[in-house]
Amino acid sequence: MALMTGQQYKDSIKDMKVNLYIFGEKVEDQLEHPITAPAIEAVALTYDLANDPDYQERITAKSHITGERVNYFTHLYQGPDDFAKRLDLMRDLARRHGMCAGARCVSGNIANGLDSVTFEMDKKLGTNYHERFRSYWERIQREDLSVGGYITDPKGDRSKRPGEQPNKDAYIRVVEEKKDGIVVRGAKVLISGASIAHEALVMPTRGLREDEKEYAVAFSVPTDTKGLTLLHQLPTPDFRRLTAGAKGMDFGNERYGVYNLCQIFFDDVFIPWERVFMCGESEFTGALVGRVSPTFRCVTSACKCGHRDLLLGGSAVIADYNGVGKAGHIREKLSEMSFESELSYGCLLGATQKGYVSGSGNFFPDPRKRGEISGKQGTLVLCTHGGGHVRWLSDEHAYGKRHGAPGFGPSHQ
Ligand SMILES: Cc1cc2nc3c(=O)[nH]c(=O)nc-3n(C[C@H](O)[C@H](O)[C@H](O)COP(=O)(O)OP(=O)(O)OC[C@H]3O[C@@H](n4cnc5c(N)ncnc54)[C@H](O)[C@@H]3O)c2cc1C
Repeated sequence: MALMTGQQYKDSIKDMKVNLYIFGEKVEDQLEHPITAPAIEAVALTYDLANDPDYQERITAKSHITGERVNYFTHLYQGPDDFAKRLDLMRDLARRHGMCAGARCVSGNIANGLDSVTFEMDKKLGTNYHERFRSYWERIQREDLSVGGYITDPKGDRSKRPGEQPNKDAYIRVVEEKKDGIVVRGAKVLISGASIAHEALVMPTRGLREDEKEYAVAFSVPTDTKGLTLLHQLPTPDFRRLTAGAKGMDFGNERYGVYNLCQIFFDDVFIPWERVFMCGESEFTGALVGRVSPTFRCVTSACKCGHRDLLLGGSAVIADYNGVGKAGHIREKLSEMSFESELSYGCLLGATQKGYVSGSGNFFPDPRKRGEISGKQGTLVLCTHGGGHVRWLSDEHAYGKRHGAPGFGPSHQ
């Protein structure tokens, strides 16, 4: 199948029967719902850009699995240049939508880790996880699907290990092994884009010990599978979208500005063996988390650089509106913002340059070189998501109107 268009992606989401709730109410049509529709637009953009002749080179790659052109969100990294291209893409996309394409962003990094770890598991244990995973991911690439990346468990009491928790389901676990598959129970929390992704790719949130085998599980599942319940979280600024009569400027980043973030409950969900990529091999969980985590942190820090760039541009415009755009101390602060953004991005490129290729041919950045600065920037911008600043700044309509408004010409172009 060719690369999907944004409209085809939207149609496919409409066809899904996701068991999603917002404020206790079941969502029947995510395309029409004011909370889910904007996030769908941000993901649709990644499909449309892949079909845009002027942008295609930046958001697609020739897959070493299928030999066909695939969206970069499903591409497995083959080397430092490959990975740097993903970082560039994340920064640029964030500048365009000011939001998140989480419905397909985290999973590519999990896939890259699983591809390498299943390869090593098979080599040592004689299992066939790698072949299973490859055939699954080949389908994702061919059908151009969006896959949510499910890592974070609720974790309960942080001072206790998974097996010591008073609530056994604080970490997702296998409750039954059957001839044709496994049954899983528990939850994953804070999952970006979960309800607007076709599939979920699930992995453990931490390295596990020999006596914690039941939690050592990785698998995939369609988002509308029976037994899955999704609760959408709703930060305060999003309430405006539910207010009668509110529209346009009331929303800030009208087109894209809602972060799709869900808590997902797995109520004894059956997973057929062909979708299971780890089941009990706790000795490999450390390697999996140790590869996926720094890879994803680099990718997500790159998009925070894009968000930071938006904040910089927006701050400059606000200063202009107030007639202080040319003041020395304001310019100094703007320069500092630009410096921090570029420094963070430099750390990511440094981590990329010092990365390594695993036995399976997957590339990983150097986990030690990502730099504290990127982490701090990530936190800063994630906080501003909640406050809605990024949403406001990236509103292409509102920003464009203000930008060109008579008497308010910018001095920081
Ligand atoms: C906007 C957003 C999007 C996200 N998207 C995704 C996603 O798509 N997929 C996904 O899997 N996750 C996602 N996450 C989750 C994110 O990865 C986690 O929030 C993060 O890993 C921290 O985990 P936590 O929230 O459980 O916090 P915790 O791990 O509980 O940390 C909270 C604080 O407690 C401290 N702490 C924790 N344990 C201990 C301990 N044992 N001893 C001492 N101190 C401790 C930490 O250092 C920290 O200061 C997202 C989060 C956000 C905010």
